[in-house]
Amino acid sequence: MKTIHNLGFPRIGAARELKRAQESYWAGKTGLDDLLATGRDLRARHWNIQARAGAQWVPVGDFAWYDHILEWTTLLGAVPARFGQADDAPVGLDTLFRMARGRAPSGTPAAACEMTKWFDTNYHYIVPELHPGQTYRIARESLFEQVAEAQALGHRARPVVPGPLTWLWLGKGDAYTAGAGDTAKLDLLPGLLDVYEQVLRRLASQGVDWVQIDEPILVLDLPQAWREALAGVYGRLASQGPNVLLATYFGGVGHNLDVVGALPVQGLHVDLVRAPDQLASVLATLRDGQALSLGVIDGRNVWRADLDRIHEQVREAAARLGDRLWLAPSCSLLHVPIDLGLESGLDNELRSWLSFAVQKLDELRLLRVLVDGEADGADLQALAAARRAVLDRAASSRIHRRDVAERLAASVSVRRDRAPFAQRIADQQARLGLPRYPTTTIGSFPQTPEIRALRRDWRAGALGDAAYEKAIREEIERVVRFQEEIGLDVLVHGEPERNDMVEYFGELLAGFAFTAYGWVQSYGSRCVKPPLIYGDVARLAPMTVGWSAYAQSLTDKPVKGMLTGPVTILQWSFVRDDQPREQTCRQIALALRDEVQDLEQAGVTVIQIDEPAFREGLPLRRGDWAAYLDWAVDCFRLTTSGVRDDTQIHTHMCYSEFNDIIESIAAMDADVITIETSRSNMDLLGAFEAFAYPNDIGPGVYDIHSPNVPREEWMVDLVRHAARRLPAERLWVNPDCGLKTRGWPETRAALQAMVQAARMLREAA
Ligand code: GLN
Ligand code: ZN
Repeated sequence: MKTIHNLGFPRIGAARELKRAQESYWAGKTGLDDLLATGRDLRARHWNIQARAGAQWVPVGDFAWYDHILEWTTLLGAVPARFGQADDAPVGLDTLFRMARGRAPSGTPAAACEMTKWFDTNYHYIVPELHPGQTYRIARESLFEQVAEAQALGHRARPVVPGPLTWLWLGKGDAYTAGAGDTAKLDLLPGLLDVYEQVLRRLASQGVDWVQIDEPILVLDLPQAWREALAGVYGRLASQGPNVLLATYFGGVGHNLDVVGALPVQGLHVDLVRAPDQLASVLATLRDGQALSLGVIDGRNVWRADLDRIHEQVREAAARLGDRLWLAPSCSLLHVPIDLGLESGLDNELRSWLSFAVQKLDELRLLRVLVDGEADGADLQALAAARRAVLDRAASSRIHRRDVAERLAASVSVRRDRAPFAQRIADQQARLGLPRYPTTTIGSFPQTPEIRALRRDWRAGALGDAAYEKAIREEIERVVRFQEEIGLDVLVHGEPERNDMVEYFGELLAGFAFTAYGWVQSYGSRCVKPPLIYGDVARLAPMTVGWSAYAQSLTDKPVKGMLTGPVTILQWSFVRDDQPREQTCRQIALALRDEVQDLEQAGVTVIQIDEPAFREGLPLRRGDWAAYLDWAVDCFRLTTSGVRDDTQIHTHMCYSEFNDIIESIAAMDADVITIETSRSNMDLLGAFEAFAYPNDIGPGVYDIHSPNVPREEWMVDLVRHAARRLPAERLWVNPDCGLKTRGWPETRAALQAMVQAARMLREAA
C-alpha cells in the first residue's frame, strides 16, 4: 500500500470552537483550563479524522493558539524585550497572546508584534522579531507535550516544524528586512540550528520517526547566499535521529533544485497542484532511498479532485519509486474549510463538485486505492461517484453560459482607453465644480448594531422587503444629510446594505455560491467565509444602482457610486480551477462594467471601484508579476472605460506598498486614487512622487483603525507634506479607509476636523 499523509489540518474546529474559546478566555469569561481543554479536544478530533482516512502519521504542531509561526517563535524563546520575558523561564501562553494582541489576561500590555500575509494566502502570521546576537533556547514544551498526547491516543506523531530558513526569511528587526533574503539574517543561523538540533533529538527520544520541516521559501527566488546556506542547515538537521521530510509548497522548486536535490534529507514534498511540471526534474534528482511526497490534492481550493487524472499523473513515479512514493495534499489544509458534510444549504449538484478538508482526506484515501489497484465494493462505488461529479461539473450548464462566453470573446475589441487624463479632469471639473483639496470618504459609515440587525432580520425573513428598503433608505438619508451638514465635497451613501464588500456582490451575481460553515482562519481568532465562484459570472440585474440613485436624488453634491473591483472579488473568493483566474476576472470585470454604465445612466457622476486586494494578487515569483499585472490592470480598465470623460472614476487601495507596482497603478488610469498613508506618515507617497504620478490622489490623512480623533493641524501638516511631493492641485483629503468599524461620535468629530483641515489648507493656498 502506498503511504498517504497530511501536512496539516485546519485548527479552528468545524464550529469555530477555537475562536470562541480564545475570545472567551481573552475576555476573562473562562479560565486557562477551559481553553486548554478545547485545544486538546480539537487536536484529538482532528487526529482522529486523519487517522481514520488512513494517514500514516498525524501532524503535530499544526495546531496553534494564534498562529503556528508564533508558536514556533515562542518555542525558540524569541520573545521581544518589551514583553518582559525572563531569560530562563518558560514562555507562558499569555505572553504568546500578548505578542499577538498586545494584551492577555495576565502580564503587562505591550505593543503587539506585526502581522502579515502568509505567502499568497489570506492567512496572516505574526512576524518574528530578530536582532543581531539574538539567542535561542527551548522555551516552550507544547510541541513535545502534543507529541506525547497524540501518541497516548494511539497515533504515530509526525511533528511539523517551520524550517529555520523560512523562519528567518519571515522575520524582521531594526537590522533586518521582513520577508526577504537579507543576507545579514543568516548570521543568526548557527545559534538557531543548535536549538533545532536539540528539538529534533528530543523528538527522537520520544520515538518520533519522521519530522516534517516546512520550507515554503524554496519556491521563491532565493539569493545565492540563502541557497548556499541550505546544504549546511540540512546536513545538520537530517542527522539528528528523526528522518526529515522537507516540505515545499505554493509553487515549484525547479529553479532551486540544484541545491534542494542535493540535500541529505530523507524525504521531499513538492506541490504538484501549483507546479505539475516539476515532477520530471524532481524525479531525476531524487536519490536512492529518498522518499518523494507528491502534493496532488489541492490544499488551496475547494473543488473535488479528478482522481483519474491524478492517477495518470503519478503512475510513472509510483512504478519507479514503489514504497518511496507518498501521496498528500499540496500543502496544509489550513487554507480550506473543514467539512462539506455540514453544508445542508447547498444543492446536491453543487455540493457534489466540492471537497473540504475532511473530504480531501477521503479523496486521498481513494486515490491510494486507485494507485494500489485494490478497490473493494464500497471504494468502487465512491470512485464512480467521484468520476460522475467530475464529468457533471465539466459539462454543467450552470457553469458554462453561452452569453458570457460570447461576451468575453467579443470583449477583446472593447476599447479600454479614455481621453487623456488632462482632458478628462478638466471636463469633470467643469461638471463637478469641486474646490481645491476636495474632501471625501472611502465609502462605509459606521455599521451600528441597528443596521446589522436590519440586515439580519431581513435575511431571516422577519423583516419584509418594503420595510427593509425603507429603513436602509432612512439610513442613507441620515448619512447624506450628515455629510452635507459637515461640508464634505464628494459624498457617499454609506454602504449600510453591505455585510461585506465581496459577499454583497457575489450574492447578486450568477456563478457564485455561499457556504454556511465554510470558515477559514484569517488570523488569530478571526475567520472568513470566502464565496465560491463556481461558474461563469454574469450580472443578473443592477446591484447598486437603486441605492446610489436614491442617495444622489437627495442632494446636489456628487454622491460616489461604490463598487468592489474585479481583482478584489477574485482574490477574496475560492475561484474555479477549470479556467485561468484571468478569465474569471474578466467575466467579473464585464459584469461590473455594466453596473458602472448603469450608474452613470442613473445620474451618478463619480464612481469608485475599490481594489484593496490588487497588490495581494501578485504571484510569489517576480518573473510572474508582469503577466498578472497586465491582466489585473486590463480588468480594471475593462470595468471603468465605458463611461463618459466627465464621469469621474475613483479607486481605493489600502495596506499596500506601491514602489514596485506604481507603473501598473498609473496604467489603471483612475481619475482619483485614495490610499492608506497616515500610519506611514505619507511614506507610501514616495512611489507616486518618484514616478511623477499624473492623476489625482487622496492620501489618507487619518487612521481609521483607531477611535482617536485626529487633530486638524496634524492633518494639515500631512497634506502639506504630501503637497511638497506631489502637485497640490492633484491632492484630495480623505481618511485612510472606510469607517464601518468606527462609532458615530468619533466619526463625526474626525470628519469635522478633516473638513476644517481642508478649509485651512485652501485659505493658506
Ligand atoms: N468602500 C469600502 C469601505 O469603505 C472599502 C473597504 C476597503 O478598502 N477594504 O468600507
Ligand atoms: Zn481600504
